[in-house]
Amino acid sequence: MRTIDSLGDIEAKRALVRVDFNVPIVGGKVGDDARMRRAMPTLELLLERGAKLLLVSHLGRPKDREPEFSLAPVAEHISKLLHTEVQLAPDLDNVPDGDVVMLENIRYEPGETKNDPELAKRLAALADIYVNDAFGTSHRAHASTVGVAPLVERSAAGLLFQSEVDTIRLIMNHADRPFLAIMGGAKVTDKIAVMDKFLDSADIVLVGGAMATPFLKVLGHDIGDGLCEEEGLEPAREALEKDGYPNGKLRLPVDLVIADEFSEDAEVQIIPGVDVPDGWMQLDIGSKTRTEYVAEIRKAQTIFWNGPIGAFEHKPFAAGSLAIAQAMAQTEATTVVGGGDSGAAMAEFGLAHSVTHLSTGGGAALKLIEGSTLPGLEALKA
Ligand code: AMP
Repeated sequence: MRTIDSLGDIEAKRALVRVDFNVPIVGGKVGDDARMRRAMPTLELLLERGAKLLLVSHLGRPKDREPEFSLAPVAEHISKLLHTEVQLAPDLDNVPDGDVVMLENIRYEPGETKNDPELAKRLAALADIYVNDAFGTSHRAHASTVGVAPLVERSAAGLLFQSEVDTIRLIMNHADRPFLAIMGGAKVTDKIAVMDKFLDSADIVLVGGAMATPFLKVLGHDIGDGLCEEEGLEPAREALEKDGYPNGKLRLPVDLVIADEFSEDAEVQIIPGVDVPDGWMQLDIGSKTRTEYVAEIRKAQTIFWNGPIGAFEHKPFAAGSLAIAQAMAQTEATTVVGGGDSGAAMAEFGLAHSVTHLSTGGGAALKLIEGSTLPGLEALKA
């Protein structure tokens, strides 16, 4: 992966910088700017070295040029973060001259998601160099993440992109031990390849959330009306077999918080085992499991977490995820949160700044852990 330093002298060069400013827009303003702030070191470094920036990002999934997907609020917000004027270019044919220009939503261009070579050429014609800091979009081959890279003089990864890739590679190849992986969330099939990697590379793998349900079902427990992905049963069975459960690395809940419906107002019970009666569903780990999982976190030197350990959006089912988040915030270990909903949980608990690394690209981070190729990363090689 080429870095910004490999670009050499970039004084007065026009840099096309792909950023991931796909942020929530609330009432015509940027709602949460955490993602934008993470790209600022790259933008500041390029400006310090004298480059002129043309920022390119997508926002949502526009079908046409719907105004609600305009990056105008984002351009206004960058100008505050960088303390400099930021102009918005309405399209590729009307790019004003300026130190920092933001191009309108690149997905207004139909060729973007098709990695259309013509669009890539038009983008490249606007720049001398290309810097990609949009790790969260690197698992997609689009014109602004892949097509444009070989068409400019020089290209490189931005500082955020680089730190995302370096962090994942570090924990997968050189983690301090014990190395603990925590897997939660809803869909086993999305994450089974990642779990498989952790069964090889980690020392302990804690499972929680709806992820745990197919495992419990395969082990012969009653799962009541809990969310259980049918296609997840076979992968769960294979994972248990590969692990040699219960004598391997996998840990499953030993008690549960159950409810009669998926809602804040549900009737809630804590059960001492993992057999869920009909008409009930498990929505969080119980207190004994919480204590066991927190104890594992305290022993670990490297911890990776992806996926909430219960339906944390509802207060009665947030205790498990909160306990994990707090224990991660308190440990001296290297802590990595794989973005997505576990990132949202960290932010909701006000602990996002207490971890070593919070990924801005949940999907891309999981692909990298799986060992899949990221087209956006490949485009920055050699
Ligand atoms: P994922 O996108 O796979 O990480 O799943 C995240 C979602 O899983 C969150 O919205 C959680 O509310 C949900 N979730 C976590 N645990 C459970 C559970 N035990 N039952 C139902 N949904 C859950």
